[in-house]
Amino acid sequence: MPLLSLKDVGKIYVGENSVAVGIRGINLSFDKGEFVAITGKSGSGKSTLLNVVSGMDTYEEGEMYIEGEPTSHFSQADWETYRQKYISFIFQDYNIIDSFTVLENVELALMHIENPVERRKRAIELLTRVGMQKFLRQRGSKLSGGQKQRTVIARALAKDSPVILADEPTGNLDSETAKEIIELLHEVSRDKLLIVVTHNFEQVSEFATRQIRIYDGGVEFDHENVPTATYARYGEYTAEKGEAEKPAAPKKTSSFKKGLKLGWALFKSMPKLSVFMSIMMIIGAIGLFLAASVFGSAWDIFTPHKMFTHYDGRLIVVKQNSTLPTNAELSAFTGEGTVGAKDIVRCDYLLDTAVSAKFKDEDYSKKYNTTMYCSLNYKATFGDDFGSKIIGRYPEGENEVFLYLPISAKPAFGDETEKEIIISFYGNSGYEIPLAVKAVGVKYYYDNHIEPKMLLTRDGFDLLTYLNALGKYSGLAFNYEKDGSSRYYNVSAIVPYLSNDKKIYLKTLYEPYEKEINPGGAVGTDRFTISRQYSGASYNYTADIPAEYFDNETEIVGSSGYPDRTTVFVSTALIREWMEPALDATYGQASLLFNNDREARSAVQALNDAGYIAVLSDATSAKSEYDALIETIGFFFFGIIMIELIVFFAFFVNLVTRRSIDAFKGDVAIMRSMGISADNIKLGSYFRVMMTVIPAILTLVLLAIWIFTSPLLNQFFTYLYWWQYALIFAGLMLLAYFVTRMQLKRLFKGSVKQTMRGGKKL
Ligand code: ADP
Ligand code: MG
Repeated sequence: MPLLSLKDVGKIYVGENSVAVGIRGINLSFDKGEFVAITGKSGSGKSTLLNVVSGMDTYEEGEMYIEGEPTSHFSQADWETYRQKYISFIFQDYNIIDSFTVLENVELALMHIENPVERRKRAIELLTRVGMQKFLRQRGSKLSGGQKQRTVIARALAKDSPVILADEPTGNLDSETAKEIIELLHEVSRDKLLIVVTHNFEQVSEFATRQIRIYDGGVEFDHENVPTATYARYGEYTAEKGEAEKPAAPKKTSSFKKGLKLGWALFKSMPKLSVFMSIMMIIGAIGLFLAASVFGSAWDIFTPHKMFTHYDGRLIVVKQNSTLPTNAELSAFTGEGTVGAKDIVRCDYLLDTAVSAKFKDEDYSKKYNTTMYCSLNYKATFGDDFGSKIIGRYPEGENEVFLYLPISAKPAFGDETEKEIIISFYGNSGYEIPLAVKAVGVKYYYDNHIEPKMLLTRDGFDLLTYLNALGKYSGLAFNYEKDGSSRYYNVSAIVPYLSNDKKIYLKTLYEPYEKEINPGGAVGTDRFTISRQYSGASYNYTADIPAEYFDNETEIVGSSGYPDRTTVFVSTALIREWMEPALDATYGQASLLFNNDREARSAVQALNDAGYIAVLSDATSAKSEYDALIETIGFFFFGIIMIELIVFFAFFVNLVTRRSIDAFKGDVAIMRSMGISADNIKLGSYFRVMMTVIPAILTLVLLAIWIFTSPLLNQFFTYLYWWQYALIFAGLMLLAYFVTRMQLKRLFKGSVKQTMRGGKKL
């Protein structure tokens, strides 16, 4: 059975208003070992015949048989398989991939060899055989015509296909080189079917076993030729073949691996395009990153509404019967033999309240204002703390705090500790309650979703709780009697000063008052009362301030810093005395502190049994319909912006790379003529583009590190979590996908044949 046979095969080219006959009524059979020379005038149909035989072009009439199997029903995939298995094609214009090295051009045909070392070895072997061992690393574009043709022959051998087709392989070579190439072709194809199209039969007559002349699309004559070369073809070569031309066993390589290999080869072979695309991807990544970070609030849709400030191990408890829990009642849950709470905060209001703090540097010129949540010093009370890598130390006295601040606060606050900080509470009628404390330690964090925190000792925390409560009372006023008539003194600031003595110190620069309220003079003669009204619950409290509480000796340090129009300095001990009963009477929510949430959760049942409602501090509640709507709309628009960014950018990249891609068309055609399937090239193209994403990912990592460690930038960019990075990564992949798709659309317009005509090479 002949290897290939054609029966009445015809091919016509139908143009817009013309019909050209390519070939007609071709009846030919070819077999292994033959060296067929096809001659004929230009335009007679020689190339058409070769293209049909190679499966690169279709035929409309007759039937072509491959080892007896008819092919008229073949699909594109069938032709690809056929080309891969049977055909090596050598063109007049040396279809070599210019951007690949000699070695890479040959390796491309050796993709089926898994081991890259093996593959390289084999490629070098083949190149040595065609005399190209000295040019292995030369790029295709730098070779002479003869060298290119030798490389192509090596590549043809790499496939070890039974058929080698050569369409005027020496057409562009000088006669000396042409002779060498024909000799080489002859030598390497002695056991194969070699069909050479030439208009110069003389050149091949020495080796050809058969001459076919084509005229006007048909066979003019077809006869044997007796080669004059001293060595014969088929059969004689087998001995040598045993060692030198061992066909690489075509192992089944997964298309994934093949695609990856091809992708890498393509990535390397088009360095300018790869670099350009990488830069584009970097820009794309930065764009996505900025969008994701600047529109940071769009992510809120994923974060549930938290009811409380979450501290690991915090359990919020209220009594089921709405009465106020006493310290004694809550003590039943601490200590040995109980559920084991580590601490009780009977009035936990401050745990969920951000208080205002001002940092001042030495000369009071720079200020940094922030709000901070207060919490107990973990180290002193329960489990968690901020670790040992802190600046300074944890607080020990009631006027000491430890700060947990975003890195953006660092330029203002710095690395020094023992700094004075003013914590302020504001009263309902506008007066300020400033407390001067000392920051003895600080730790900076990078996740700027986290609220700044202030850690206090138990005493400090309680003090702040009282001050906060003091602010909550409306109409704080001092009433006094003077000369039998009642007067009042409206307060613009209550300044606590740390003292265990119950003392109060009045100070005013307001003249009418100053005359009257001379603490020294007032003591003993006048009667002062303080009246307070709790704004939340109906609680009234009026207290006489005994004369001995008035302090006319203490010179309050720093008092000059306060607006002292009508200022009252009150010792912290006195504030405690005032506020303790007020809180007892009005505040009903407590927190129990455990080592961790797990322990806290296991205490819930016991608390329920004891008449409490207990909730973990990470409890969430449904968002209001309004908030949910706003968040949904926000996220929707954000999504649209992201997708548009990706699509527009993909279009842009496609637009600016179109010339390179058009130039690449020729290379694709060559690959396809070698039998590399379109699917494989497509997969390779995807991998190629994916590879250009890698620098973008690295950039993203560096950018993220830079942004979140730079105090200034940390302020402006939302800290992103790993899953947000994952989404940005997905966006980049989508971008890569769109770009590749558009590029592939350009590449795969039309058949192989058409692509070759359109490509730069043919
Ligand atoms: P040769 O290789 O012998 O010079 P070809 O096989 O290239 O001849 O061409 C044979 C005939 O078919 C010519 O008349 C040519 O114009 C025509 N032909 C070849 N390819 C095409 C094509 N793609 N479209 C239209 N006509 C074509
Ligand atoms: Mg031709």
